[in-house]
Order: sequence, then C-alpha cells, then structure tokens
Amino acid sequence: MKVRHAHVETLLDAARAGYPLEVCGVLLGQGPFVHAVVPVPNRETDSPRVRYQIAPEDLARIQREGREVGLEIVGYYHSHPDHPARPSDTDRAFAAEGLSDGVVHLLVGIDGSRRVTLTAWVFRDRLSDFDRVPLEIE
Ligand SMILES: [Zn+2]
Repeated sequence: MKVRHAHVETLLDAARAGYPLEVCGVLLGQGPFVHAVVPVPNRETDSPRVRYQIAPEDLARIQREGREVGLEIVGYYHSHPDHPARPSDTDRAFAAEGLSDGVVHLLVGIDGSRRVTLTAWVFRDRLSDFDRVPLEIE
C-alpha cells in the first residue's frame, strides 16, 4: 500500500489526539493508493481504550461519499494505546466476521509519551490470520 506522508501525519495526529482511547478510521483510495484518511468516531462505549467500533451507518456514508468522487474503501486504521502495533485477538475475531478480507489494516501503536509505531496488515482468511505487508510512504 502506498500512502502519502501527509496522510500518515493525519493518522498519527489522530492517534495522539485520541490517546489513551483507541481512534479509528477509513482509508479511501484506488488500488494500492490511499487518497484520503477519514477519521470515524469510535462508537465503542464499554472499553474504548482497548477496542474500537465503526458504526455501519458511518461506514455506509463514507463509502457513498467516496464513490461520488471515484474512491473505494481500501483499508482501515486504528490505534493501540499502550499496546504494540500488531493485531490483537479482538482484531482477529472482528476480522473473522468477514468485514475485513483483503483490505489493509494500518495499526498505530502509541505509548504514554506519544511515541508511535505504524504497521500495515492484511487479513487473508480465517486460517492464515493477518500478514504483515509493506507500507510505502512517499
Ligand atoms: Zn486492534
């Protein structure tokens, strides 16, 4: 996946601003190219420090607005406050529900001093789990 530096900054700023809660959002683009980072409210109310939830109506709206300008949902992002930038068991369970197949998930690990780590993953299927994929920042 190819992401512009400015988009990475948008995403990392969102993770810093939301700390210690998880933030989440959608990546709109074409093919491997990300053209827009769209923050989405984290609708998780029970444990927003360790979980996130994207409401179906938020997703539908972003999808519709993207299509109006020729962009598709090419990925998602969320942050892991005080946790490593790799998929959690919750992420695996969520992905296995089928929402996520084939799209890229960007994970932002962020600690108390707001230090960030960004990684990219693709969920292939239930058996193979998440694979880490390269992220090209240009
Ligand atoms: Zn996660």
